Amino acid sequence: MLDFLDPIKGFGVTFHQMFKKVDTVEYPEVMRPTAPRFHGRHQLNRWPDGLEKCIGCELCAWACPADAIYVEGADNTDAERYAPGERYGSVYQINYLRCILCGLCIEACPTRALTMTNEYELADTNRESLIWTKEQLLAPLQAGMEPPPHPMRLGETERDYYLLGRTGGPAGTGRPAEAAEAADAGEAQPNGHQQ
Ligand code: SF4
Ligand code: SF4
Repeated sequence: MLDFLDPIKGFGVTFHQMFKKVDTVEYPEVMRPTAPRFHGRHQLNRWPDGLEKCIGCELCAWACPADAIYVEGADNTDAERYAPGERYGSVYQINYLRCILCGLCIEACPTRALTMTNEYELADTNRESLIWTKEQLLAPLQAGMEPPPHPMRLGETERDYYLLGRTGGPAGTGRPAEAAEAADAGEAQPNGHQQ
């Protein structure tokens, strides 16, 4: 094609764009919903009675390719119980300066204590506030949940908790299967998914 037509072709591109639907979003006033399985910030989930699902095993930390997770486990006692069973996560941190939101940690978690939400607003103006602590990561208490420490309300043993939802509630506890469903629903809070 002749060279003198090139500028006209260039204006043609501009002209064409003027009539296309605008993709710009007025963020942060307008936030587009993410894909349902989007990997956003993490959440530490609870059982329906409010006890924590994390047992402080550190498998998530070992699985993390970015070395972004720090966990310290501690023993539960009858006087001070945070999770069913022997251990709980007493210190839990995720460093969002390192995290690449790959999701390997949630695959490694044996209790589904750790899941990811759809929340993606993780920017800040200083490094310290991007190290999220257990208190920030813990799921909010839902209706009917009691803040730990407290005794096991849903069964005699850790096993009763793990059987929730599979057997219609732990034997002898008189707790309905809906308690398990409430826990599963709570995993997705505040706006996340349960991957
Ligand atoms: S999402 Fe990936 S990088 Fe982030 S803490 Fe989990 S394993 Fe580590
Ligand atoms: S979040 Fe899961 S894998 Fe990580 S320490 Fe707690 S129980 Fe273990």
